[in-house]
Amino acid sequence: MGKMVLKSVYFNGSVRDILISGKKFAKVERPLTAADYNNAEIVDCSGLAILPPFYNGHTHAAMTLLRGYADDMPLQQWLTQHIWPFEAKLTPKDIRVGSRLAILEMIKSGTVFFADMYWHREETIKAVKEMGVRAAIGVTVADALQTPELTEASFKFLQEHRMESDRVSLAVMPHAVYTVSDKTFKRCVEVARKEEYILHTHLAETATEVKDCKKKYGCTPVELMDKFGALGGNFVAAHCVHLSGNDMTLMAESCSAAIVNPCSNLKLCSGIPKIHKMLESGMLVGVGTDGASSNNNLDMHEEMKLTSLLTKVSSSAEKLPAADALKMASSNVAIAYGVPAGAIVEGLLADALLVDLRNERLTPNHNLVSNWVYSADNSAIKHVICNGQFVMRDRHVDGEEDIMKEAELTARRLAQ
Ligand SMILES: [Zn+2]
Repeated sequence: MGKMVLKSVYFNGSVRDILISGKKFAKVERPLTAADYNNAEIVDCSGLAILPPFYNGHTHAAMTLLRGYADDMPLQQWLTQHIWPFEAKLTPKDIRVGSRLAILEMIKSGTVFFADMYWHREETIKAVKEMGVRAAIGVTVADALQTPELTEASFKFLQEHRMESDRVSLAVMPHAVYTVSDKTFKRCVEVARKEEYILHTHLAETATEVKDCKKKYGCTPVELMDKFGALGGNFVAAHCVHLSGNDMTLMAESCSAAIVNPCSNLKLCSGIPKIHKMLESGMLVGVGTDGASSNNNLDMHEEMKLTSLLTKVSSSAEKLPAADALKMASSNVAIAYGVPAGAIVEGLLADALLVDLRNERLTPNHNLVSNWVYSADNSAIKHVICNGQFVMRDRHVDGEEDIMKEAELTARRLAQ
C-alpha cells in the first residue's frame, strides 16, 4: 500500500505534516513518527493549504459538447427544440469524448466526484476509471423519450452490474416525473430499494412541472415521490426549486437529500430555490452544477458562492456561513451519495485540494475558508488528489491537450 506525506502543509491555522496511506488519510491531527516517513513519497507543500475538494451532486457530463450551442430560452423550448434533437445524434464514442472534457474541467476546478445522469453510461464509466476521479453513474430511465427496448436494457444492466470499481458506483436515475410513466417510476423505486442503489431524479425544477404534476396526479412532485415510496436515505433529488412547506417536511423527515443547481435555474428562468427554508426544515442540501449546456460550466466553486449569496439575500447575512457553504459543495454531497469522503479527516478517503497561499485572491490570509468561498477562483488550485493519488499536478492533467482537441473536433461535427 503506497504512502504519501504532505509535508509542511497549512491546515486549520497551523503548518503540519499529513500522512496518506493507500486511499485514506491516516494521520491528520496527530504528529507523525519516523516510521511514517519510511518509504513514503514526500510532497513538499510549503506555501500550500489543504482543503476538501468539491463533489458535484448533479450533472450531465457529456453535455460539455453542447456548451454554448443553444442559450437564452426557457427550459421546455430549450429541451424540445434544441437539446434533444442534438443529443439524438450522439454516438457512444461522442459520450466518451464529452465525458473526458467534463472530467478535465472538473479536475481543474477542484471537483473529484460527480453524479451523472446521461446516456451510454459505459462510456462515462470508462472515462472516470481512466482519469482517476469518482462518480455515481446513472442508469438513466426516461420511457417517454426511449424505446421500450432501451428501458428494458437499463433494468437488465442494473441486474447484471453492481459496483463498477471502488471509485464508480451505479445509481438508478429516472429522469423526471414528466418523462417517466408512473409504472416505470415505481419500478425504479423498487429496484433501488431492493438492490440498495441511490435513486436520483430531477424534481420540482419548474413551476410548470409542479402545475402539470398536480393536474395529472393531484399532488406535488415530492408528494408523488412519497406515494411511490421513493423518499428515504437513498433518495437524492436535483433542483428542488419549487418546494412547498409540506414538501420540505416530507423530505427532511424521510432523510431525503436535495441538490440545488442555482446557476442552471437562473439561466433557464426556472426560479430560485428557497435554500434557507430547506436548511431550516432539516433537509440535507448539497450543490451541483447541472449540465454544461445550462450552466455553462461545471465549476463548483462558482456554484458554491452563488448558493451562499442567494441564501443570504433571501434570509439574512448570518445565514449560511462560509464553512457551511463549503460543506454543501463537499461533504453534504458525499454524504448524500454514500461516499466516505468530503473532509480532511483521519479514516476518510484521501481526496483533497492543495491551494497556493501566495495566490492574490487568498491574500491576506485572515481566514482561509472565507477567502476560499468568497474571494478565490480556480487559479489558486495547484494540485488535486483523489483516492490518495494526484489527478492534477502543478495545474496539469495527463492527456489534457488531446482531450481538448478531440472534443473540439467532435462538437464541430455534431453541430453540422
Ligand atoms: Zn439536470
